[in-house]
Amino acid sequence: EMGDLPSYEELLEKDRKYVWHHMSAHNENPMIIASGEGSWVTDVGGNRYLDGMSGLWCVNVGHGRKEIAEAAAEQMMKLAYSTMVQSHIPAIELAAKINEWLDGDYRIFFSNSGSDANEVAFKVARQYYHQNGKPTKHKFISRHRAYHGNSMGALGATGQAQRKLKYEPLGVGFQHVPPPYCYRCPFGQTQGKCSLQCAKAIEDAIVWEGADSIAGVIMEPVITGGGMIVPPDEYLKTVRRICDKYEVLLIVDEVICGFGRSGEKFGHLNYGVRPDIVTMAKGMTSAYSPLSATAVSAELYESFRNNQEPTSHLRHINTFGGNPVSCVVALKNIEILESENLVARSSEIGNAFKDGLKPLLEHPHIGEIRIFGSALGIELVEDVKTKQPATAERVMKIIAACKQKGLLIGKNGDTVPGYANILTLSPPFSSTDEDITFIVDTLLAVFDANQEKG
Ligand code: PMP
Repeated sequence: EMGDLPSYEELLEKDRKYVWHHMSAHNENPMIIASGEGSWVTDVGGNRYLDGMSGLWCVNVGHGRKEIAEAAAEQMMKLAYSTMVQSHIPAIELAAKINEWLDGDYRIFFSNSGSDANEVAFKVARQYYHQNGKPTKHKFISRHRAYHGNSMGALGATGQAQRKLKYEPLGVGFQHVPPPYCYRCPFGQTQGKCSLQCAKAIEDAIVWEGADSIAGVIMEPVITGGGMIVPPDEYLKTVRRICDKYEVLLIVDEVICGFGRSGEKFGHLNYGVRPDIVTMAKGMTSAYSPLSATAVSAELYESFRNNQEPTSHLRHINTFGGNPVSCVVALKNIEILESENLVARSSEIGNAFKDGLKPLLEHPHIGEIRIFGSALGIELVEDVKTKQPATAERVMKIIAACKQKGLLIGKNGDTVPGYANILTLSPPFSSTDEDITFIVDTLLAVFDANQEKG
């Protein structure tokens, strides 16, 4: 159905003249994608690529889902917009469905992006303590390497210097602690035999900053974009206990891990913890329409509701958040995840990676392979003994070779100077066995051809 597309050259000229790309150098020749079907996208030149990152960790049910398009079109004709100052049927149904997936009791505040959802979480946490006689509890703790969004508060929470330096001052009150990065343990401990100093660092930060100044801890279940950093099994539970001990809220950012990427409905369910606030976006609609949500525990919500002051409501609004079209898209997306059993499929994909990529564990430039559900991180090194991170040239060479063979993969950006050395993959859960075999075979072939030292 490609029809008569303008030529790449024609489009490129216009693109260069008018479009400012996200996060890329100005001299790049962008791919111009025209269509997608399942796990594959096609550019305007007719070249097909397997979308190994599901866009940006989001198109979890795959491209070209007509049933989602139809649900959106139907809703647009019925009611394209209604403000969430009131309510509407798709928002009510979606909020109930999210509760079912969270297996808890939460009130759902809708926004447009992951960044928005995190901003709401910060405001809820601060206002909660403010209204409960603890106005000095206003700071948040997050981890280095974590990404939480692009807005000033969410960027403040982000622990990646390269993204922040030119834009400071950002939202203030965010303290960073080292990540639970076992391959390069910030505390010099041995993987599998440690005393969870990474969790203890959070307790230290709370105590040293003063527990009366800390409103919350924000974290992803695993750090995804910041390098696929999978914590020790007991980490999240330990953090939950620390939060309880010092009366600090646990905010879990499920923007990437939520809705099945982790092999469970939400990433934190792998670790048996109950967050006070959960934020979600990307996979909620599989990116067919922008939508995010902040799920706030009923207990927190009741404290707002029971407050008799006239200004006790959350003074936060956005125009598009929770619009009915995005909500029906999310409902249809979740219906697909359920009816096609795609959460289980997500962990099946991870297991296929684990088996299929075993030969890579012997590769001279692969330090570690980390898997969480269907999300995959490959840590590239110059030397497996010294663990010196791979050079940017080596990383770019691998990415280019994959692309040349028709596989799009990701990397953690220049999050830490000299450490842009982790490749990432997170294919749609709807990927067929053939798709997964294609990914594995392509990676094996590309690494096989790139073994040289130095
Ligand atoms: N949190 C996490 C963990 C993310 O990965 C992202 C986006 N990559 C965000 C928040 C921000 O989401 P958005 O880009 O929709 O604002």
